[in-house]
Amino acid sequence: MRGWQFFMHPGPTNIPQRVLLAMARPAVDFTGAEFVALRDACLARLKPILKTERAVVVAYAASGNGAWEASIANLFSPGERVLVCESGYFSRNWAATASAFGLEVEILPTPERAALDVGMLGERLARDARREIKAVMLVHNETSTGMRHPVAEARAAIDAAGHPALFLVDTISSLASYDFRMDEWKVDLAVGGGQKGLMLPPGMSFTAANEKALAAAQGARSPRRYFDWRNMMKEGRQASFVGTAPMHFFYGLEAALCMLEEEGLENVFARHRRLARATRACVDAWAAGGGPQVFPLERAYASDSLTAVLMPQGHDADRVRNIAEARYGVALGRGLTTLQGRVFRIGHMGDLNEPMLLGALAGIELALRDAGVPFGRGGLEAAQAALAAP
Ligand code: PLP
Repeated sequence: MRGWQFFMHPGPTNIPQRVLLAMARPAVDFTGAEFVALRDACLARLKPILKTERAVVVAYAASGNGAWEASIANLFSPGERVLVCESGYFSRNWAATASAFGLEVEILPTPERAALDVGMLGERLARDARREIKAVMLVHNETSTGMRHPVAEARAAIDAAGHPALFLVDTISSLASYDFRMDEWKVDLAVGGGQKGLMLPPGMSFTAANEKALAAAQGARSPRRYFDWRNMMKEGRQASFVGTAPMHFFYGLEAALCMLEEEGLENVFARHRRLARATRACVDAWAAGGGPQVFPLERAYASDSLTAVLMPQGHDADRVRNIAEARYGVALGRGLTTLQGRVFRIGHMGDLNEPMLLGALAGIELALRDAGVPFGRGGLEAAQAALAAP
């Protein structure tokens, strides 16, 4: 294959040269003043991205699963009940983490192509007269379906029920791609990851915990060590990684934060929105000819960071993916578990611009043609028109 690969996975995403080069350096003393200053500054600079002033951010030398594990291990005791809002593969795996720690996991079901029903959430909490539900867990951006779930509205439902449950939100594939407001939405614990909108290699994740979550952690009896905040935090901030600090991630993170700050967070969001709209305009044109369609049924909940594309009956998404990658150098995300073969996913988050997106969409269209998948014409024109709109 000659030329660039168009890497359109919904995480990890394109890693900018500036981040890669910042990481290409010798190790330093991870207890020394230079690294400690870098660590503290980076953790502080994550706060405006999370839109929190109050929360304590703790980073982990682990992929997102590690931050999930930290969220469960630090907040709960075995036997406690949590309510997981079903959104797809990632909500199920966060629930599995909770089950592994001996929690009673209750799933709030959601139909396959729909967003969380906040009315149902409110009803369930109102019925919990004995206040047995210790936490509501929600994935903001469900990366397996390309769906944005309504965090502010979920918070309002919890408040309307007068329920004291903690509110835990996974913002791994929304953070730094579209709006997440930890303080305003009264999210007690947010889970983040480096390899999506923050444009880092996989292997760094973090949690942000507000005072309510930190208070809950005091009484938690789950077994924990590597992810134990008591071993990691001192005087209300992170002071240790228990083991060796992942220092190179911080050099990379510093570069990524500079890039986000230079562009301006709201401009980053606007760019993601534009790229998402263009992608969906293209897929809608394909769908009009009996071809692949945007997975979320309601457009208001379609994610700005990736688009899951549902194949027409009888056509295999993985065949399209394989052709796109092998012949045209366009790498796409696969459908996960129940969606395998039915869906391919176009990541449009992180270090991406208009021509990169258009190139990728053109490559996918070639792959659809080669795979004999029907599709409506005019997808690329529709994407260009969406990009040209003010
Ligand atoms: N949560 C979401 C929304 C994700 O998209 C992912 C990974 O893609 C995870 C959690 C798990 O993170 P990781 O695969 O980095 O362990």
